[in-house]
Amino acid sequence: MRIGRHAAVSDTGRRRLQNEDAHVDEPPLFAVADGMGGAQAGELASRLAASTLEGWSANQQGEVALELLVRDANNRIFERSLTDPAASGMGTTVTAALVDERGETVAIGHVGDSRAYRVRDGRLEQLTADHSLVAELLRSGRLTQEEAEAHPHRSVITRALGTDAEVDVDTITVALQPDDLFLLCSDGLTTMVRDEDILAIVAAAAHDPARAAEMLVKAANEAGGEDNITAVLFEVVAGEPEAHRDRAQALAAVPGPDGRGEPPQESLPPARVRRWGAAAGSRWPALLLLASLFGAGALVVIWSLTR
Ligand code: MG
Repeated sequence: MRIGRHAAVSDTGRRRLQNEDAHVDEPPLFAVADGMGGAQAGELASRLAASTLEGWSANQQGEVALELLVRDANNRIFERSLTDPAASGMGTTVTAALVDERGETVAIGHVGDSRAYRVRDGRLEQLTADHSLVAELLRSGRLTQEEAEAHPHRSVITRALGTDAEVDVDTITVALQPDDLFLLCSDGLTTMVRDEDILAIVAAAAHDPARAAEMLVKAANEAGGEDNITAVLFEVVAGEPEAHRDRAQALAAVPGPDGRGEPPQESLPPARVRRWGAAAGSRWPALLLLASLFGAGALVVIWSLTR
């Protein structure tokens, strides 16, 4: 088997001012990351996760490789949050899928409440367990499905990348069949669109990943679009896998110092992480100047009144 068509659509939604989701759509690796944090820290966290995964190289295979990549992303985000005050406390979910070079299995690595689904034989199956407060209450029987769907804290997650020096990564490996369709998505889709509707939309899109991604994002927006929405889809088709693909050839042509190819670029344009207005460090002198002007004015008023 091999990967067939694939597509990704990411949308800000109708309520949020910016899109803090990031994704990877680079066969054989796919991922979604849903960032959180003040200002633009959430966007930084999810993009750091995505750019770390994009540093994947062809000799890294399976669950072990995915887990290492996710831990590496965790380290990068955590270290950045310690050294950059604007990024303090940021974090992100990540759900990643890596198809093996023989096209027989897909490894999934997962932290947080983004999800991986498989559509097979007209059924939609969730492959990941949400690391969220509501999912844990649901699993322990303290909430019903209906209560969970309306819970005010349904966006609270219990595991994230970048909030701690260590992270537990869930990994599974799933055997592939021709005509399998995989969906990775952020909670902006799944809190707005029920599983049965996701399945119906994928069927209405005739299992075309690009069309399905567009239609899923549209459905989430029509249901309110309360959060950023990201959908990444890929299909599995019969046939020989493309051996190691162009990416592997490109990496082989430019071996890095450790033979793993070039290290991933920190692909974050500075303008996107810079905050508007004065930087935190340059605000204090201005405030001091204002305070001293105000104090001098007050003294003049008091002096003129007491004369
Ligand atoms: Mg979200």
